[in-house]
This record gives sequence, C-alpha cells and structure tokens, in this order.
Amino acid sequence: MIHPTNQIAIIGAGFSGLAAARILNQAGISFQVFEARERLGGRVYTQQIQEDLYLDMGGQWIGSSQTRMYELCEEYGISYFETYNQGKSILELKGKIKSYQGTIPKLDIISLLNLDMIVRKLERMASKIDLEKPWIHPKAQLFDGQTLEDFLKRNSKTETCYQVMKVGMQTIFACELHELSLLHTLFYIRSGNSLGALISIKNGAQQHRIHGGMQTLAEAIAKPFFDRIQFDSPVLSIIREKEKFILNTSKGAQVFSHIIFAVPPPLLKKIGINPPLSDQKQKLLERYDMGCIGKCQMVYPKPFWRDQNLSGQAVSDSEFYLQTLFDSSPADGQYGVLMGFVIGNKARKFFKMDEDSRKQAVKKQLIQYFGEEANQEINYVDHTMNQETWSEGCYAGIREVNSWTKYHNSYSQSEGRLHFAGTEAAIRWHGYIEGAVRAGEAAAEKILQELNNG
Ligand SMILES: Cc1cc2nc3c(=O)[nH]c(=O)nc-3n(C[C@H](O)[C@H](O)[C@H](O)COP(=O)(O)OP(=O)(O)OC[C@H]3O[C@@H](n4cnc5c(N)ncnc54)[C@H](O)[C@@H]3O)c2cc1C
Repeated sequence: MIHPTNQIAIIGAGFSGLAAARILNQAGISFQVFEARERLGGRVYTQQIQEDLYLDMGGQWIGSSQTRMYELCEEYGISYFETYNQGKSILELKGKIKSYQGTIPKLDIISLLNLDMIVRKLERMASKIDLEKPWIHPKAQLFDGQTLEDFLKRNSKTETCYQVMKVGMQTIFACELHELSLLHTLFYIRSGNSLGALISIKNGAQQHRIHGGMQTLAEAIAKPFFDRIQFDSPVLSIIREKEKFILNTSKGAQVFSHIIFAVPPPLLKKIGINPPLSDQKQKLLERYDMGCIGKCQMVYPKPFWRDQNLSGQAVSDSEFYLQTLFDSSPADGQYGVLMGFVIGNKARKFFKMDEDSRKQAVKKQLIQYFGEEANQEINYVDHTMNQETWSEGCYAGIREVNSWTKYHNSYSQSEGRLHFAGTEAAIRWHGYIEGAVRAGEAAAEKILQELNNG
C-alpha cells in the first residue's frame, strides 16, 4: 500500500532528476524537486543567442541506441533533425592541414592499419566487459591498473596513429587520457554499445539535434510538475533519522521519507549527510573526478563552408585550442555555426584568458581551416561548466586507475531509502543524457517498488 504521508525528495533538476520526477508524478506520488540553480537542465543548457538562434552550451546530440531519448521526444512532441554531415572534413596533423571525405582520415598506410588494429582491439576488449560488474573480468586488475594513455602508447606504432586516437578519445571522454582508467574506458565503450557508436555522427551518438535546443525537451518533461521544483535551493545537509530524513536548504528544513540524489559526484560529496554514507561510497567520492571540456561557437550569417563542400568537421593535434569541430548550425541553415571543443589541460589554459583573447584564438584557427570568410562572424560564445559551482566539470565523472576494482559500483548502490541517480549511476549510456534519464527512472522505480511493498 502507498502510504499518504510518503514524500519523496529529488535533488537536482537535470535530466536524471526530471526523469525520476516524471515517473513519480505519473504514479501520483507526492514529491519535491530541489534545484540549486535558477534553471532546469543542469549539464544541458540552451542559451538564446539572438532572437531566432538558440545554442546548446552543454549536451546537444542524441543518436544510436539511445532509445529513451527518442521515446521522450515522441511522447512530448519534440522534433529533431540530422546533424549536418556532408562534404569533406579537415585534419590538421603535425602542422599540415588536409581535407578528406568520409569517416577515415587520409593517413599513411601504416598509421591507418595501426588505427584500425587499435579500434578493433578496444572494441573486442570492451565487448567482454560485464556492465553490471566490470570488476569481475579476469583481467580487471590489469586493465584498471593502467591508464588509457598507457594503452595507446603501447599499441601505437606511429606518432600519427597515436595523435589521431588521442584527439578522438579526448573528445569522447573530455579529459587527459592519463586521468582515465583503461577499465573505465572499456566499460564506457560497452555502455554506449561500441567505439564506432560513440565517435560517429551517422548511426552514432551525434546523429540528431533537437529543434530549439536540448533544453526544450527538459522543459517539456518538467511542465506537468513545474510547481514542484524549488529553484535556487541547494540542498546543504541531510539528517537521517529512523524512518525519515530532514533535508536542509538555505530556505529551511523539510522532512521526507525517501531521497533521490541526481547530482554530479563532486556535488554529492558536498552535501553533509549524517550519519554519513557508506565507507565505500565516501572513499569513491573522494577520488571521483570530472572531465574538463568547453564549447566555442562562432556564428556566421550562413554556413558558408558548405558551399566549399566542407562538412565543418575538423580534427587537430596542433597548438590551436580547438581539438574537434562540428557544424552546429540550426536545421534550416539560417545561420552558420561552427562549434569546437577545447579539452583537458588546453581547456584549463583557454578559460584563463579574457573573452576577446579566446575569441581571437578561435577565429585564427577557423580562418586557417575555412578561409577568410571565417573572419566575418556575427557572434561568438564559449562556455565551460568546469567553472560552474553546480557542475564542477563535464561531460561527466571519470574514474581513475584502480577505481572500479576497489570501489565497484558503490556509487549507484541504494543505502536504505537513499537512492542514487545521475548519469554517473547509469549502466547504459553512462555519461550521456540517455544514461541520466535511465538512472533517474531506475531510482524512481525502486521507490515505487518499496512503497508498494509497504
Ligand atoms: C559541454 C557538454 C557537452 C555534452 N554533450 C553531450 C551530448 O551531446 N549528448 C549527451 O548525451 N550528453 C552530452 N553531455 C553530457 C550530458 O549533458 C550529461 O550526461 C547529462 O546532462 C547529465 O545529467 P544529470 O541529470 O545526471 O546531471 P546534471 O545535468 O548535472 O544535473 C544535476 C543537477 O543538480 C543540481 N545540483 C547540484 N548540486 C545540488 C544540490 N546540492 N542541491 C540541489 N541541486 C543541486 C545542478 O544544478 C544540476 O541542475 C555533455 C555535457 C557537456 C557539459
């Protein structure tokens, strides 16, 4: 029986918290969402740049086997469109700029074969990872004891192959590769099906974008229970008593029967919970780092590069800041938008510069790739969530060496009536919006089950 005094608190109004709230709302359960920011979406953030132009500063793509995202679009009548993916792409390697057609860059034959071998090896290794228990793999200790950087260095026979793999993997994980356990890399690849799916536009995770930006979907999901979201209300501490939790925000204390945490790991660590969380979870939280990435978007009157048969995509290992670029123009091509990622240490350096220096640095690179027309921008915006108090990094949490074998999946494990969501608790599409939704739904389903069991 569902007891009328049950009251659920959901902490965080990103996609994970919203997905949990949607389930509880549909089940007619009483709940309250607490959101630290003054807006919805968390690591999804669509900004209106001009009257008729919206750009995503956070998550923007859906694709591949992200079935829940497509189902939610369908349910809320949200339309999406194909990411522009025609024409030649640019590769800047060892100071030389080349263009190439298709997904495989023009490299010397040895590097190409080497690249193919590494990709196949990673796919093969990842396919043997148990997503529920990555640490039970017979070579888990070996894989978890090394970084992705170690693996790539050992397997790359040419510098060219190493550099191309490095940029590709940095774009997938948003960090320096020495920060990442090889076991976590394999788990992440399996979680998103394959390396091919993670890296690709066509049939991959970058296939579609939402008309009007990703936040449109967050707003549609939240609409039926918008009045149950308390904005500007960071949860500061939680006192656990026998059958209840006293949750404190700067606006006062409230009592709840169950709690869903849907915040990134560094923010979970900051909530004072008394008595504290399990030893394993606390130890993991101490070592749980976030990726570091920023988006730079240059807006033009039209996507002029398309007339030169260029896709707007580029990959660079140079001293320039942008490491990978995409055409991020709106569906109708009414404006042209080139969006580039700046990652890891480069991002840390880049965002220390003032805005004009950042813009000039980006423009210089774009002119090199797309010619003088790249000088005719009408707007420029860049953004990183690494400096935001309520994200502390992005895309997602990254697990360093020995983290999986020591702490297993303690992050996502419920502790009594405390449940843990967020993309970092996801098994499928871990790190992605799809993962956030799935983890939020799973946490809400657990509570429904508990309530039904009395
Ligand atoms: C630049 C960038 C590009 C990305 N690109 C993609 C992409 O194209 N496709 C994709 O699938 N994914 C992408 N991602 C990742 C994706 O955005 C995230 O995986 C997903 O949004 C995480 O959702 P979440 O609900 O788990 O967490 P969040 O979105 O981080 O939500 C957590 C919420 O909790 C709030 N909060 C934190 N602490 C507290 C507290 N103490 N009290 C109350 N509230 C609190 C925060 O303000 C936030 O709103 C990208 C991310 C970034 C930043």
